[in-house]
Amino acid sequence: MIINPFNAGANWRWDNFRLREVQCHCDKAKEEGKPVGVRYPGCKVVLVDSRLLDFLQAVRTASGQPLSLSCAYRCPMHNEAVGGKPETTALPGKGSQHLYGLAADIKRRNLPDDFGTALDILVGSQGGFHEYDWGWHVDLRGTRSRW
Ligand SMILES: [Zn+2]
Ligand SMILES: [Zn+2]
Repeated sequence: MIINPFNAGANWRWDNFRLREVQCHCDKAKEEGKPVGVRYPGCKVVLVDSRLLDFLQAVRTASGQPLSLSCAYRCPMHNEAVGGKPETTALPGKGSQHLYGLAADIKRRNLPDDFGTALDILVGSQGGFHEYDWGWHVDLRGTRSRW
């Protein structure tokens, strides 16, 4: 199910996450002086898949660690501005999973060193995982992906 601002109120069941954490961060990027989608500055659009929220909440609950998300859903303009893989008409569904509300970037912050290893295992064959200096990308694209 795709959670959007109109149905979020009735369906929200993720105690440790808020809608604003998973909405497009065009506005945050603008505040930080980073590139934003020029046509939609501060769009705040949210179209996040409930499966992603279920996964994040399960990780939060199992680990007992608060998760700080640098990004989840990205509108196409913001995705382009941050260098995300665009959606292509030739291969629908093949662009950045952030475009489909199926990906989140989790900040490393104060999380334990082995947190990434655990995330990798938890994502398993459900989707993608990649470790960055700042943290980890996870997505639930439906097939295993590592890069
Ligand atoms: Zn946006
Ligand atoms: Zn990502």
